[in-house]
Amino acid sequence: MRGMPPTPSAQLVVMKFGGSSVATADRIRHVARRIARERARGSDLVVVVSAMGDTTDELLALAHAITDEPDPRELDLLLGTGEHQSATLVSMALHALGVDAISLTGAQAGISTDGRYGKARIADIDPRRVRGEIAAGRVVIVAGFQGIARTTTPIAGEASGADRPAGAIPSETAADVAELTTLGRGGSDTTAVALAARLGADRCQIFTDVRGIYTADPRLVPGARQLSVIGYEEMLELAYQGAQVMNVRAVELGWVDGVVIEVLSSFEDAPGTLIKEDPIVEQRNKVRGLAHDRNVAKITLVDVPDRPGVARTVFQPLADAAINVDMIVQNVGHGGSTDLSFTVPKVELAKAKRILEPIVRDLGFREMTTDSSVAKVSIIGAGIQNAPGYAARMFGALADAGVNIEMISTSEVRITTIVAEDDVETAVRALHEAFALATPDPVDAGAAEAAAS
Ligand code: ASP
Ligand code: MG
Repeated sequence: MRGMPPTPSAQLVVMKFGGSSVATADRIRHVARRIARERARGSDLVVVVSAMGDTTDELLALAHAITDEPDPRELDLLLGTGEHQSATLVSMALHALGVDAISLTGAQAGISTDGRYGKARIADIDPRRVRGEIAAGRVVIVAGFQGIARTTTPIAGEASGADRPAGAIPSETAADVAELTTLGRGGSDTTAVALAARLGADRCQIFTDVRGIYTADPRLVPGARQLSVIGYEEMLELAYQGAQVMNVRAVELGWVDGVVIEVLSSFEDAPGTLIKEDPIVEQRNKVRGLAHDRNVAKITLVDVPDRPGVARTVFQPLADAAINVDMIVQNVGHGGSTDLSFTVPKVELAKAKRILEPIVRDLGFREMTTDSSVAKVSIIGAGIQNAPGYAARMFGALADAGVNIEMISTSEVRITTIVAEDDVETAVRALHEAFALATPDPVDAGAAEAAAS
């Protein structure tokens, strides 16, 4: 039957705004205008927000001013309020512009997690409420960084106080216990990507205070160039190795679910960077970008007995304390002993030392030395390992710049060096130059032209 043409369904866009984009009332009004503009184009919108400015840090500091070890449940409930603030305010700002909008907490948006306070993973999203609000014509503002953990097994009674979540209520109503959990620092990105995947959004936009992903940190390298596209794997590696633009888990999730993520500026109208499956182009410069990380400290154990089990004795207690050991280098044994060097996050150094001191003493290692003034500098690009010459070029460039390399590690997609922290800027600039990263690849050139016109 020929009748009315079917109404084309509007495209669904998930827009995420980071803390600096909603830091003040003025900026919230600015964000609201941007949302209203997108809405006026006819898009259905789900907006995810982070807490205003440094709110999360301030709430953390407050908690630690009260007690050295805040209860994890109370801390998550506290931190969650940061995103409640910004979500409600963005919604009000939209109302003021005459745009129908509603804010939802993570729980109200149907986001459930595995329940680990402070580092919860999204387990499931029930999209009904969000879909209902969209169908009712509203822009839906979702508080990022959080979800609800539901306990469905009886808790009280038989369970001792120790294994019962703090605040759990008696067993008859145990199935209703719902706790706010946060997703870890930077987790609003994850909220956005997860919602985009679950809702089958047409676009997932991460608005931030830079224009996108660069070949190196533009604050360090004046010639750093914005990339139009970067593959998931390369983006993940950049993020792991210190680039701070995108949350690691959000990129992982995007990769698994095939969500194309667009990173772009909330302050200017400029094309961003697309994170998506990026087929390797043979002719292309395999180095896509550089990352550096100053949050690194080096530990060296001198004269470690060279026999089975010693490495476990050293690393198991660190693992048990959730200390993230990164690069590990063990020298060739000499005279029955060897030296063992590895890196940990600078912020974990004191804890690592405390754990290792008795081990060093009990096993009769000669000594433990530590250096917290080191940094990681990496070159990153898919296929680096299979392309000869990249390592030599990297080490040559660092040598020419007078930068001493203290440790090296490689993977399929990166080569990482440890250098003195004071050398970071020199190293990154030298590598940017050596790998000609300021020059656009043919692959990027098209987009760069479009950006310039
Ligand atoms: N507000 C949280 C944080 O500062 C989550 C986020 O910004 O994505 O880590
Ligand atoms: Mg953030």
